[in-house]
Amino acid sequence: MTKHIFVTGGVVSGLGKGLSGSSLGRLLKARGLRVTMQKLDPYLNVDPGTMNPFEHGEVFVTDDGGETDLDLGHYERFIDENLTVDSNATTGSIYSSVIAAERRGDYLGKTVQVIPHITNEIKRRINRLVSDDVDVVITEVGGTVGDIEILPFLEAIRQFRLDVGRDNVCYVHVTLVPYIGPSGEQKTKPTQHSVTELRSRGIQPDAIVCRSDDPISSDLRRKISNLCDVPVAGVVNAADASSLYEIPLVLHNEGLDSYVCEILGLDDRPLDLTAWEALVERVEQASVPVRIGLIGKYVSLPDAYLSVVESLNHAGIHHGVDIDIEWIQAEEVEGLLTAGRLRDLDGIVIPGGFGERGVEGKIAAAGYARENAVPCLGLCLGMQVMTIEYARNVLGLAGANSSEFDNRTPHPVIDLMESQRDVTDMGGTMRLGAYVAQLRPGSRVARAYGEEVVSERHRHRYEFNPRYRTRFEESELQLCGESPDGRLVEFIELDQHPFWIATQAHPEFKSRPDRPAPLFREFIASAMQRAEGRNPPLPTIEADSPAASSS
Ligand code: GLN
Repeated sequence: MTKHIFVTGGVVSGLGKGLSGSSLGRLLKARGLRVTMQKLDPYLNVDPGTMNPFEHGEVFVTDDGGETDLDLGHYERFIDENLTVDSNATTGSIYSSVIAAERRGDYLGKTVQVIPHITNEIKRRINRLVSDDVDVVITEVGGTVGDIEILPFLEAIRQFRLDVGRDNVCYVHVTLVPYIGPSGEQKTKPTQHSVTELRSRGIQPDAIVCRSDDPISSDLRRKISNLCDVPVAGVVNAADASSLYEIPLVLHNEGLDSYVCEILGLDDRPLDLTAWEALVERVEQASVPVRIGLIGKYVSLPDAYLSVVESLNHAGIHHGVDIDIEWIQAEEVEGLLTAGRLRDLDGIVIPGGFGERGVEGKIAAAGYARENAVPCLGLCLGMQVMTIEYARNVLGLAGANSSEFDNRTPHPVIDLMESQRDVTDMGGTMRLGAYVAQLRPGSRVARAYGEEVVSERHRHRYEFNPRYRTRFEESELQLCGESPDGRLVEFIELDQHPFWIATQAHPEFKSRPDRPAPLFREFIASAMQRAEGRNPPLPTIEADSPAASSS
């Protein structure tokens, strides 16, 4: 029987419910349980694909092409499983299914209502993840209790316990215990109110995860236990951790995983966290800074580049260095270059993006990196920008551009594929999800991956224009990775440069804390060499440490 954990949140948003859920998932996996996760999002958008990254952060892409909430990225990184589009459901998608069923006449003329039709559809979505291969499904409900939009979800998860039996469900509620400066106290009242709200919807939490700046006292813990009717063992404190990868250890020390296993009647098997502990230790010990400039359009909301940042961190953990990200607004690049303000960077990342704004700045950054031997990694739009820069400034194709930014360019080196030109529904033209690429034997990209056929996730419309292939092939820019049919360019790399490499894909979606994406790993290795000039010598890497296996 598959067991279910529902994670809800209260008091304020942004408490790290996703991280708490993923960390719990990690702990259960460390006990040998098979875990999967999903996010139920109460907003009305059908999927996050069309949402502004300024507002909502990155759109995370799954292997099967799902455009999902960024929390799925945390889930994948923590539980180390590839999820599918089924792991994300929004109010918009749930209503779409119900309304489509109503139009088809599936409800046989009955009145269609939130209860039972919407709640049944929510339960159906939860059940989609149940299979013989899964021991535990962790479902995070987005938003906070008390939101208007969350009500059908709370009702559905309340009913769910009755449907599958009490012993098969555990409710975990994440709240905030704020510190009030003037009175010098941590306060439990918001937690009490939040639990009262949850109870008013018929859900008594089994465990409460209290987020706080500083650890809470045992008195406070008892008070919360008493007032919220949760055993002391179920009141868990997640005080701010120095790294997000420390959270599983924090929750384990607080006993959350054993407690949850007890509630669900799962064997309290021993667990092995040594690898994870070693990872956290590496994070803590990394002191040598490597300065990476991230040239973006949405730099005021770093969550817009969450997976890129995490991939850089994974590479930093691997090499034992501290990644110091310099957020650079793309439109400001030209001015910063003139002022010599980018000279201290050890590496430059040009991430993905849509629309024209800031593109010229990104092109300037790519050119600066190329001419000054600064390691540069291009991701999706980043590869397009590097292609344009090279076309204009090395191949002499004046005015070269992507037709996304200039549809009258004399040299559309990046363009829509023929088959996509007449499609009017923009969503319909995206290349989404995992695609295989064939790498050129002996290329640096192939060496970084250690294999010649690789699969990475995509999310874009425009492609390298095959009409310009020969021009590039005669130059030092290698088209070193292609789709198996040879039509699409997937990877490029520049000869005679420490690292000027890009991909049309988004390798950041597959990086894991203990298995950095190969291009990120090699990019940071190259940036470290540049940093060596600025910093004292790097710590020597022992032969059996993970860093020794790279490059
Ligand atoms: N805007 C570009 C395209 O659609 C790149 C997209 C991206 O970087 N994800 O092709």
